[in-house]
This record gives sequence, structure tokens and C-alpha cells, in this order.
Amino acid sequence: AEEVPRYRRVLLKLSGEALMGPAAYGIDPSVLTFISKEIAALRRLKVETGIVIGGGNIFRGLAGVAQGFDRVRADQMGMLATVLNAIALAEGLQKHGVPTKVLSAYEIRSVVEPFVREKALSYLEEGYFVVFAAGTGNPYFTTDTAAILRALEIKAEIVFKATKVDGVYSADPVKDPSAKKFNFLTYEEVLEKNLRVMDLTAITLARDNNLPLMVFNMQEPGNILKAVLGQKVGTLVGG
Ligand code: UDP
Repeated sequence: AEEVPRYRRVLLKLSGEALMGPAAYGIDPSVLTFISKEIAALRRLKVETGIVIGGGNIFRGLAGVAQGFDRVRADQMGMLATVLNAIALAEGLQKHGVPTKVLSAYEIRSVVEPFVREKALSYLEEGYFVVFAAGTGNPYFTTDTAAILRALEIKAEIVFKATKVDGVYSADPVKDPSAKKFNFLTYEEVLEKNLRVMDLTAITLARDNNLPLMVFNMQEPGNILKAVLGQKVGTLVGG
């Protein structure tokens, strides 16, 4: 039977750590290959895909502050780290047959195109996958917030947040064996129970605009494909 995707346009949020593998820093080539292949499955279904990638595998603003850097400077360094990851991911996707563009909130014109919303929309319509780099372009924000923002701008129907666990739990399932997994949560439940799905800025922006989120484990092969086909993977957060 032909597989019909549930969503026509999605925004995938990957943390920088998703590229790191077993190491403590940087980009693992075999992990990059795995992730690229997983995402390439969406192209065969003709799902229009935007991707926001973090930078935590290279540099985090708050870690920089702890080392004595000015917050704004440190955040700028963090955003530049996301550009490195975006280029790596775009290269990985290209290698697996997915034409990909990188649009950056920071202008680094000789390396990547600047983010222009209209450009993002036309690339998606033309079948390119678009990796959004440099977060929101502003300090004091996160790439989770950038993911919600870009999803709203491109009118994605859902945000897929790829994690290392298979959904949202009542407690850390590694530390607490009685932790239970939620299949569905409202935004309010996420806020009330203080569940760490995304930071508060990101969650409230999603809530205020009724943008659903799916949190699932991307290390499990085939999960992203299942998610886009509307099968139950992970935890759905919605209204
Ligand atoms: N960052 C920022 N503004 C943004 C997005 C990111 O200042 O809109 C900085 C911030 O310092 C953050 C770093 O970039 O620590 C890396 O992004 P993030 O921590 O969201 O990446 P992830 O944890 O998802 O890898």
C-alpha cells in the first residue's frame, strides 16, 4: 500500500547533541550519516521539511558565561555553532539525495544564504529541505524557540522535537523507574507540571499559536517516518 503522509509540511528540531554520538564534543560522522538517512525518508514521501538545529555539541551560551564570557557574546558564539551544524547536516542530507539549502539568521553571505522568509517558502515549494541556522539571531533565546518561530513562519503543521528518550515522562526515566510516559499533554499541563519539553518561551509561543509538538526518540530507526505518517511515537503536545 502507498504510504500517505499525515503532514504536508513539518519543522524538525534537532539538538546539537543529536550529532555528537558517544563523544563529548563535535560532530560524529556515523551519527550524521544515520540522521541524514532517517530524514531522507521524508523526501520520498514529498513532505516539505524545515529543520532547526542547535549548537550545544559545540558551544552553549550559558557555558560560555560560566567561563567568564559576556552573555551576549557567548550567545553569538552559540548561534555560530549552530551554523557549523547546519552546514554539516545539509552536506549529510545532500549526500543522501536530499537537495538542501541553509538559511541563516546571521548574514554570512559567502557561506550560507541569509534567512528570508519568502525564500524559505519558495525553496520548500520547490522540494528543497531547508536548514535554518543561527537560531533566532538574537541572544537570550534558544534554538527550541527558533524552531517554533520558524515553524510558524513557514506554516508547518507540527514541530517534531527529536530527543534521546521516547517521549515526555513524569520524571527522569533513567533516575526514577516509576516515571510514566505521557501519550498526550496540553500546553497547560506542560507548564503546570513544569515538564522540560522545551523552554518556557518556546512552549508559550507554541501554545499562543496552537502549534502542536511531537516529542520522540530519533535514535530509534524509522521513528521520524512513523511520526510523519501519523503513527503513535512519543508524546504529542497540543491544545
Ligand atoms: N542561541 C541564542 N539565540 C538563539 C538560539 C541559540 O543565543 O535564538 C545560543 C545560545 O547561547 C545557546 C546556543 O546558541 O546556548 C546553542 O543553542 P541551543 O542551546 O538551543 O542548542 P541545543 O541545546 O539545542 O543544541
